[in-house]
Amino acid sequence: STTTTAENSLVDRGRTALRAIIDGNVGQWIGGRAVTGDGDEIGLINPSDGTVIGSLTAASEAQLDDTVATARAAFTESDWAEDAKLRARVLRRLADLVDADAEEIAYLDGIEAGKVAQGSVDEDVPDVAANLRLSADLISRDDGRYLRSPDGWGWVTKVPSGIVGAILPWNYPVAMLGWKIAPALAAGNAMVVKTSEDSTLSALHLAKLATEAGVPDGILNVLTGTGPGIGAAMGLHHDIDVLTFTGSGPVGRSFLESSARSNLKKVSLELGGRAGYIVDSAHATDFPAIAADIAGAAFGTSGQNCTAASRVIYVGDDDERFAEFRTALIDATEALTVGDPFDADTDIGPVINARAHERITSWVDEAVDKGAQILNTRAEVPETGSWYPPTVIAGVPDDSELGHGEIFGPVTQLLRRTSREDAVELINGEPYGLASSVWCEDIAQVRWWASRIRVGTLAVNGYSEGTEATPFGGMRQSGFWGRDNGPEALETYQETMTVWVADA
Ligand code: NAD
Repeated sequence: STTTTAENSLVDRGRTALRAIIDGNVGQWIGGRAVTGDGDEIGLINPSDGTVIGSLTAASEAQLDDTVATARAAFTESDWAEDAKLRARVLRRLADLVDADAEEIAYLDGIEAGKVAQGSVDEDVPDVAANLRLSADLISRDDGRYLRSPDGWGWVTKVPSGIVGAILPWNYPVAMLGWKIAPALAAGNAMVVKTSEDSTLSALHLAKLATEAGVPDGILNVLTGTGPGIGAAMGLHHDIDVLTFTGSGPVGRSFLESSARSNLKKVSLELGGRAGYIVDSAHATDFPAIAADIAGAAFGTSGQNCTAASRVIYVGDDDERFAEFRTALIDATEALTVGDPFDADTDIGPVINARAHERITSWVDEAVDKGAQILNTRAEVPETGSWYPPTVIAGVPDDSELGHGEIFGPVTQLLRRTSREDAVELINGEPYGLASSVWCEDIAQVRWWASRIRVGTLAVNGYSEGTEATPFGGMRQSGFWGRDNGPEALETYQETMTVWVADA
């Protein structure tokens, strides 16, 4: 396939950024500089072809302790926590540097996590910049609440929590980093970020930009390390005040336990999802357009998205119209191009690694063995690397893994219900409550759905998680306390403090 000049520049610039990290074996950014880890070696694999990109040494637990101490010293001694104007200025400068390095960042997420590069340039990188700018605006406007009583006066204000530990997933490496650092830094905290061992490069690049932008040394530290290694140690650390985590449910739960066993750090969890996408056929007409939106939501990032359309629920009793929708969904799926993340016409890249590929394959195979049917003609995918083709499946039995688990791959189930109430029950009966979509053109009926469906984000007539200004997080077992994005994210990283002055 052909590549344009713009893409070549992306690859060239990206390779230079990659070499700067790999050749120096500088997998850690601590105290404002690149540092070599002193733990075990971590191999970085390109999921598109299974080749080794290079290796980095992980941070050891001793290095984690030193990094937290560095962060604490910077929090206490620099002007960062005190000076909101400084923070706003620096975060805006960082947003500009992130925009300028969109190609480097997109390349690093593409080579390491299989992210489609054009998608990163168009969406993920601008989202990081927008989040930094919004957080800068919000903190510039932050004011306290003043109170008076007959015998005194005082104010209630928000102060930074202190040291924020962030543990990241690999599916949106730079975007998830942005969601955590923009509000936590704006609120005046110092941070220790642990990337996923499957995607660390873009965070290391961004940490360097943060230092260039003027984030004081030690305020933003990025560590590369394993989950059971330094991830678990962060959960138990006595000098981390808030732990913010995006990832899987079992790991998330472990942080609640480790918080209870250590210093009662605040724990904010953004966990999995199993989003139901509803087509209210009584109030929805343009099936091809709806199907294209749903296919994008089901298969974008190879379905490795906590809001991915895991289940498409068609509501209606007309068999012919259902058949029409089913055909539209199959067509939209077959229209997607699976291929090299650096090709301009690619929609869908690989899945993250061989382990994920095995899980997705075995879940679909099990469901098919138990009677499910694959509806679409599946795309040819390369033999080497970790590829799974977009798959629409129906008749999945409840007692299969796919029937109740989070697939986190490019697989969507088509279901049908004749009553709206049954569709609502299907969604609210899930342990997950992160996101949902409904296609319904009648606003009165939209209210009907919105007042019944219990999820953190309900998209209407489209697939969207909102903007950098809209809080994102889950009900039920999709999350625990706090939100990403918007003013709510800032509050996740702040403590409320009252100052009360007695009248003389
Ligand atoms: P994961 O839980 O395996 O890993 C996430 C992070 O936790 C990684 O940094 C990993 O190193 C670390 N980790 C793993 N084991 C650990 C342990 N024992 N102790 C401490 N840390 C540990 O999840 P993943 O595979 O990276 O991501 C997929 C999951 O994330 C899915 O369930 C998905 O739904 C969820 N997710 C949620 C959101 C959201 O905002 N709600 C966004 C993206 C992904």
